[in-house]
Amino acid sequence: MEKIKIKQASVKKYRKDYPLIQDIDLVTYPKELPKGWVSFYTQNEEFIGYGYLGKQNKGIGWLISFKENQPLKPAFFSKLFNEAKQERQSFFLDESTTAFRLFNGEGDGLGGMTIDWYDGYLVISWYNETIYGLKHEILKALQQSGIPAIGIYEKVRFKKDGLQDSSFLWGEKAPEPLIVKENNINYATYLNEGLMTGIFLDQRDVRRELSEGLSTGKTLLNTFSYTGAFSVAAAYGGATHTTSVDLAKRSLEKTKEQFEVNGIDGDKQAIIVMDVFDYFKYALRKEMTFDIVVMDPPSFARNKKRTFSVAKDYGKLTYEAAQLVKQNGLLIASTNAANVSMDKFRSMVENGIKETGRTFSLSAKYHLPTDFKVSDTFKEANYLKVLFYNIK
Ligand code: SAH
Repeated sequence: MEKIKIKQASVKKYRKDYPLIQDIDLVTYPKELPKGWVSFYTQNEEFIGYGYLGKQNKGIGWLISFKENQPLKPAFFSKLFNEAKQERQSFFLDESTTAFRLFNGEGDGLGGMTIDWYDGYLVISWYNETIYGLKHEILKALQQSGIPAIGIYEKVRFKKDGLQDSSFLWGEKAPEPLIVKENNINYATYLNEGLMTGIFLDQRDVRRELSEGLSTGKTLLNTFSYTGAFSVAAAYGGATHTTSVDLAKRSLEKTKEQFEVNGIDGDKQAIIVMDVFDYFKYALRKEMTFDIVVMDPPSFARNKKRTFSVAKDYGKLTYEAAQLVKQNGLLIASTNAANVSMDKFRSMVENGIKETGRTFSLSAKYHLPTDFKVSDTFKEANYLKVLFYNIK
């Protein structure tokens, strides 16, 4: 096993079980990253932990075990997977929700990979090439962990020529669509269509609010709607009408389908394929307003007309969206941008509302749901930020 030296200045955080390795933490950056498990040491040859080096969006590696007598063998990983399963017992027992995060990377003890449960099927995401290269070992451990699976799919979430984003790996293929339940609402998912499946499981708590009371008798505008999951939750919860806006052509069919698998007539809802910023102009001109407006843009998007980034443009987005909120209505601002802190996000959103001249109050705040487990030593993994504002 290759030994990797950590700079003295970085040792302190690893002594507190911090899991992420960045290039500045290494004494020398290897020309080629080792393909297997490595051990990390101080410059004085004191043991720090076991892990691996793999370049991904954040960082270049993960510490996995801080115990010298606990090398990384298949039994170690089986135990991690089994513990993750035990911790999700309440999800497995809950018949009204059949899709959730089963293993959340470093939050469950192994950075660089996640496993989602879709009603018996597993979707594994690999975030770097090294962990992807170790997948046979990991899959074997998974199969020994007692996690039942009908079939397994994988998503490759790092750039590598010749590798497909999505593949079927093992077992039986899932039906297309695979209908999963979340708080009794059906969602049509496709486990082998690119990186996305049709539902973002991390927004469960927000959808539950929309479906359990918040939307009754209300109208809702859902911007950056993708397959319309927020709209479906609202309609299920008694919204009188929903409007979903997304630029992607596929969103029309997919959103219709999400309504229809719940017995809701999609033709009675508005599903609009349009740039959100163009839609704002249109809606303002027509003096349209909504009881609830949801904004959930991607962290970064570029189209022919414009570039949008949460870090730069969320204030402007909020200013536009807030104007469409009815008096005493609700604005829901969401982002998954890891590079924007809650404080910064909150101030961008509040400045955007202030610009409209209206008064407001924060009524709720959401982070990741509990199945997206975040460890105390790496709280920055809690990327999801959702704010609910009442606007006068
Ligand atoms: N809110 C959704 C997820 C949004 S994913 C949910 O909860 O399921 C981001 C979506 O934004 C994608 O579907 C993408 O097509 C859309 N999008 C990106 N830029 C856009 C723009 N300028 N106008 C409208 N939609 C946009």
